[in-house]
Amino acid sequence: MQSPIAAERLVATTDHLIRPDQNLSDRQQSWIHPRLSQSVDPIKGRQLRASQPVQKGELLLVDLPYALIPVVDCPEQSDDIRCSNPACHRRVARPVERVSCPTRCSAEVVWCNPSCRESDNARHGFECTWLKKYAVSIRSKWGEYDFGMLWLIVRILASRHVELHHSPPSDNTGPDHFHHSSFGTGWNAIQSFCGSQDSWAHSQVRHWTMLVKKYLGSSPSLPHGMTANEVLNLICQEEANSFGLYPRETGTFPLPEHAVDRGEQFGAGVYPTAALANHSCSPNIIHKPDNQSRMVFVASKDIAAGEECCISYFDLTKKVDLQARRDHLQGSFRFVCKCDRCVSEEPPEEEVQWDAFPSMEDF
Ligand SMILES: [Zn+2]
Ligand SMILES: [Zn+2]
Ligand SMILES: [Zn+2]
Repeated sequence: MQSPIAAERLVATTDHLIRPDQNLSDRQQSWIHPRLSQSVDPIKGRQLRASQPVQKGELLLVDLPYALIPVVDCPEQSDDIRCSNPACHRRVARPVERVSCPTRCSAEVVWCNPSCRESDNARHGFECTWLKKYAVSIRSKWGEYDFGMLWLIVRILASRHVELHHSPPSDNTGPDHFHHSSFGTGWNAIQSFCGSQDSWAHSQVRHWTMLVKKYLGSSPSLPHGMTANEVLNLICQEEANSFGLYPRETGTFPLPEHAVDRGEQFGAGVYPTAALANHSCSPNIIHKPDNQSRMVFVASKDIAAGEECCISYFDLTKKVDLQARRDHLQGSFRFVCKCDRCVSEEPPEEEVQWDAFPSMEDF
């Protein structure tokens, strides 16, 4: 007999945390469970751990994106596009009510109302000229993937620009980070991401070097002041740490009886704290963006004190067998997965051919 728990579907959401009386600034907070801590493993590097036991179903993390881009086929038609204002990032479902950029820099740049656009002036101002100048030509010449990657880098640089030049003196030590001084925030956290030129294939790094030279040099229309090598390093870090955004979560294993896939990707983002989570093919965390595009982690199993907290870097319903999982992780994240599940599914190193030995009866 199957227990009723098999049909249970845990959902990563913060909807219950948001009260209708909360204003925008209340809602745009990150939140870290007091029992979630950062540590450094000699082999795997930085990771998330539970300092004390955590129960299945507990909310562990709500992380605000540092930068986010929409990934949709037809922006004018799409109901999945998000407001460009980082303080909002809500779904802008009905095209009629959208506010676009007066320069028409890109069809994907929309806000849900004029005040959202107004308060996003400094950030969007940083990317607007670049988009207008390059979006169409990069797309036609190098395709959607490279365009998305370059735009995400430009949006990281835009957030950095706002942080360095337009933010009031840091309020990073607000209540949410008070107990978590070990977690970096903002640009500091992005800079300490893992990933370097050494972790990628030479041909890949050469391609990115060319793109940086052509499209991401510091100039009056993209005044970031960084060297080409620093921007290249940022790409290496972003590619190793960014999240695809999907409407539904992944992270329950063994797969529930009627497992549902994550659905179609609608965005890509960079999350300062969520990026610390390593991968496991049998993770103890489910993750999904909430309705303000914050990354939400919920425990999918009971987690013991000291245990590492892992997410799955891919949709667990989509890549099931060992080879498919390892090929994907090697190709996209540059590591051979040695999680408990992968190791347990490895074929035995060498099948001992017992038949080759004569049995006692033969003598
Ligand atoms: Zn908005
Ligand atoms: Zn614009
Ligand atoms: Zn694995």
